[in-house]
This record gives sequence, C-alpha cells and structure tokens, in this order.
Amino acid sequence: MSKYNLKEKQEAFSEAMRSYHSSHLYQKIYTFVSVVNISLQIVLLYIATTLSFGLIWVPFIVVVSYFITDFINGLVHLYMDHNEGYNSFFGPFIASFHLHHKKPEYTDNNLFMIYFNESGPKFWLIFYLLFVFLLSFLEINPVVLSIFILVGFLSSVAEVSHYLCHNSKSKSVLFLQNIGLLLSMKHHKKHHNEDNNGYAFLNGMSDVFIDKIAKRYYAGYKENSDKHFEFYKGMDTANRA
Ligand SMILES: [Zn+2]
Ligand SMILES: [Zn+2]
Repeated sequence: MSKYNLKEKQEAFSEAMRSYHSSHLYQKIYTFVSVVNISLQIVLLYIATTLSFGLIWVPFIVVVSYFITDFINGLVHLYMDHNEGYNSFFGPFIASFHLHHKKPEYTDNNLFMIYFNESGPKFWLIFYLLFVFLLSFLEINPVVLSIFILVGFLSSVAEVSHYLCHNSKSKSVLFLQNIGLLLSMKHHKKHHNEDNNGYAFLNGMSDVFIDKIAKRYYAGYKENSDKHFEFYKGMDTANRA
C-alpha cells in the first residue's frame, strides 16, 4: 500500500470512529439487530423442539452444526478483517470491528449480556435466520432443519466462546476449552500474534480450511487494516461481527 493511500485510509478510519461515537444511531442499530436475532433464535429453537427424529441423530446434528457454525462465522470474520469500506454507511461498524485487533480483551460482563451485545453486529445473521424460518414451513428433513436452526443459535454462542477465550480464567471454561467445545487461547492466539490465520472462533475446528482460503485470496491484516488504526487514540472495546 502506498504511503498516500495508507494516510487516506487512516483518516477515513478515524472519521468513521468519530461518526460512531458522535451518534447513538449505531448503538440503537446494534440493539435492534440483537433483539431481532435473539427473537428469531428463540422461535426457531422452539420449532426445533417440535421436530421428531431418533435420538441417535443428536451427536451427528451437534458435530455438523458445530463445524458449519465455526466455518461460516470464521469466513465472515475473514471478510470483515479485510473490509476497508470506512466511507460507506457501514463504515463506523467496520472501523469499530477492526478494534478487536487493537484491544482483544472485552469489557467484563455477564454471559447473557455478552450473548446479547455481540449478536448486535451480526447483520448477516438476521437474513440467515429469516431464511431458516421460511425453510421451516417447507417439508424439509427434520435432521437437516435442526442443523440449520442450531447453526443460527451457535453463531451467537461463538461470540461468547471468543469472549471467554480472552476474558475467562475459570476452571470449568478451561475444561471446556481443553476438550475442544470452546475456543482455547492456545489455538486462538495465532490470530492476534501472527497474520492472516486463526479466524474461526466457536472452537477453531474449521481453521484448517479457512487458513487455506485466507492464504489464497486475502492479503492479511497486519500490513493492511491493522495499520489503519495505528494513530487512532481511542481504546474502545470493539464490537465484533
Ligand atoms: Zn480478526
Ligand atoms: Zn480474539
């Protein structure tokens, strides 16, 4: 990136953050998106309880949903870490998202509030959940529909897993991280210490694939988006996608 281009991006980044802080609009949009996402998740989880299939399918549904959730959310993270559209309407959201590299730790909060707050920047999830809601009216295989529903719910849980990875020292969390149900710091630290890898954040199981996609199609963040907040003075806790 040329120096001129970099300076322009840094200014656009700071401008986007100025807008982010100067209006309540962005926080209101996050709240709206959270409420819609969580309401749809509740309706869909209720629908899931009405589906009938043999209990033997449960481990299959959980493992497949875990992998798909980890993969899709990792891809969104990969895309967002390379998104430089600071001048667009979404610019303040994009700039705020990039701050998770400047300050990886979250402000401590209870897990429900983390689940609620971190569902706010997940704009894409509304469309996904609406799509699954429409699917539920079709004659679709109940195992397949359960996987679609669980992916919609676990996408918010993935944010809680990332929070716990950075902020928790609890023994039970450590246990869940060690058995691979939650994202461990051992796995995740490469995202913050190295470049262009480790994007998955439910438990990191799909990083073997996402890392390959990243290497092939993306330039990495250390020499790009991470430079855009180099001179930004705020130490906000990022809102993450
Ligand atoms: Zn990132
Ligand atoms: Zn992180």
